[in-house]
Order: sequence, then structure tokens, then C-alpha cells
Amino acid sequence: LDFSTEYPTDRGHFEDIISSDMKYSIMSYGPCRPIINFPYSPDGSGVLRKFSASYYNMTTKSGLQIPRLWLCYSILLNRVYCETCWLFANRNQKGFKNNWIVGINDWHHMNDKINDHEKSQTHIYASSVRLHCILESYDLNVKNCRGQGYDGASVMSGSNSGVQKRIMSVAPNAPFVHCCAHNLNLVISDAAKSTQVANHFFATVQAIFNFFSSSAPRWATLAFSEDFACKIRKKVLKKICPTRWEARHESVSALKQRYIDVLKSLINISLISKKSDERSEAQSLQKKMESFQFVLMLSVWENILRPLHGVSKMLQRDMNLQNARDRLKDVYYLINELRNNYEDIVNNAKSLCLRWRLPVTYTEPRQIYAKKTF
Ligand SMILES: [Zn+2]
Repeated sequence: LDFSTEYPTDRGHFEDIISSDMKYSIMSYGPCRPIINFPYSPDGSGVLRKFSASYYNMTTKSGLQIPRLWLCYSILLNRVYCETCWLFANRNQKGFKNNWIVGINDWHHMNDKINDHEKSQTHIYASSVRLHCILESYDLNVKNCRGQGYDGASVMSGSNSGVQKRIMSVAPNAPFVHCCAHNLNLVISDAAKSTQVANHFFATVQAIFNFFSSSAPRWATLAFSEDFACKIRKKVLKKICPTRWEARHESVSALKQRYIDVLKSLINISLISKKSDERSEAQSLQKKMESFQFVLMLSVWENILRPLHGVSKMLQRDMNLQNARDRLKDVYYLINELRNNYEDIVNNAKSLCLRWRLPVTYTEPRQIYAKKTF
């Protein structure tokens, strides 16, 4: 590899067919996935279009973001290509096409092209060869494999032609299970969507961070700690929230800790901001936050998300089955225990309300009665 260049594994440096040593070097260096200002180029009808880094990830039906590690971008060629197919595709396979090996620049139809490629036999075959190669490089025999875990991408988990099926044909004792950390995320996400109160609560939390990140960046520093305000300014929260549920613990806990400061900031903005829409948005958020129900939800969800956040982080590090099972059991126990500690959670919320002199009462939704006519 030529380390004098910034992206030594850029496809543009190489021929179509390369030696196995070079393949290992490219794999161990890592794929060429630059995040730059991608250049515009005219499409078939002369419209200027460009590549976007958002294609590096796929979003599953449940909203999870999964990196498409095969998808690379060559700065030298201004084309995207499939590193896996380039290195491992069987050029003699029936129906083989080399378009993803030489690279593609049809930016207008990128989504379709990517989806078609991911499902193609050429790509699935190349992915399983790559997996074999990686196992070999660690001196592992695929025949000894006793289980496979992947994210939800169908290339890997597809039951008829996915990589897991190909591995199973060599190692029949290696059944496929959906990745545990991803599954936990789905469970939390579904649980949080189960009631309307929770839905409203998280929508408000999101609205507060969006407000501070987009229209009132300097107030973020007043309401949150320097670190956290910096995150808000970088809109990290905005990006991670829809997909990684356990990461919401960070936003819920920050909001609970800085509850009074956030309210003070909102009031300040609504009093002295020169933009009328900013003033009214601050007022509406203040109103939503100033309810016992909101504070109680803050307290409840902080307690639920805290252990989940911890275990989810652990599941993504080195972990064995026994450990994963034990940690998940701990969380299950802790969350169950919350029922017995409900009094504490309510008292915690009450004391926060008292600090802001909020009345500690539920506001029941107004009943609407139909007029009776006789
Ligand atoms: Zn491919």
C-alpha cells in the first residue's frame, strides 16, 4: 500500500485483479470511505448530482442504522464501488457483472443500484468468501463454528441465500441468531412506543434538543454543561436518537439534571429573543416542561434507561454468552424492581417540581361530552 497518500486503499490505485497478499493488506488497513465534499458530475440528462455519505449506512424497517461496510467511494475515480466484490467476487459466476467492481457514478439511481447489488448472488457469494478469509486469517476453521450473529441486513441473515445460509452449508452446527445488542434496542424502542404518554414525552424531549441545537445555540451552554452543550451544537443527539434507543438515556438524564436551568433558558429566550417564532417556541416548550406529568416521566424513564444504557454498551464490547445472559437478567431484575420503588420515583419527581414551585398534580385530559338532545 502507498502510505504517502491519504486514502491508500482507494480503488483508483489498483487494477481489477490483485494478489492475495494485497487483498489482506487492503482488508487490514480498512475500506476507503472518505467523508468529504463530494464533487458534482452531470448525469445522463445533464443535471449536476453528487454522492452522499448517507449511503454508507442503511436504515432498517425498525429505524436502525447499519453501516454498509462493503460500500466504498474512490476519490480518484469519483465512483462508488463494492470492495467485497472487487476483492472476492467469482468472475466466472453465472450472471456476473463487473459494474460494482469498476465503480458506479449514477448518483440519481443510487438507492436502487445499492439495493439491487446487495441482493445479487455475486455480492452474497463474495461476502461469504470474505468471511472465510477473515476466519482463516485468525487460524479459525469455519467447520468449528457453532453460531452466527449478525445485524438485520438481509445479505447476511437472509434465510434462503444469505451469507448465514452459505456458512451453514459448511458448518451445519452454526445456527444464525439476530445480534443481541440490536435486539435489545428493538425491544426498548417498541416498549417506549407502546403508550401515547411516552410518545408525547419523547417527542417533547426531542423538540427541546432540536430547539437548542438549531435556533438557540448559545442558550445551550447556559442550560447544559459545556460538554453537553457542545454535543447539542454538533447535533449528535439529533443523529443518534432515532436509532439508538438506549442512547436516549444521555438526553433524558441531562434534561433531568438541568431541568431548572433549561427552564430558565427558555424563559430568557421567550423574554428577550428578537425572533417571534423563537419566542413562541420557547414558550410552548416551557409550558410542556412545566407539568408534573412531564417531570414524572423524566424520573421514570431515567430509571428505566440507565441500566439499559449500561448493558447495551457492554453487549457491544467483548462479551460471552454467559455474561450477556447474566447482565440482561440483572437489567430485567432492576426494571422489575422499579415497580416496588415507584413511591421513590414519584417523590423524586415531586421534589424537583417543588424546586420550581410546580403544583404536584396530574392534569387530567378534559372530558368532552356530547350534547344530549331529546
Ligand atoms: Zn458486492
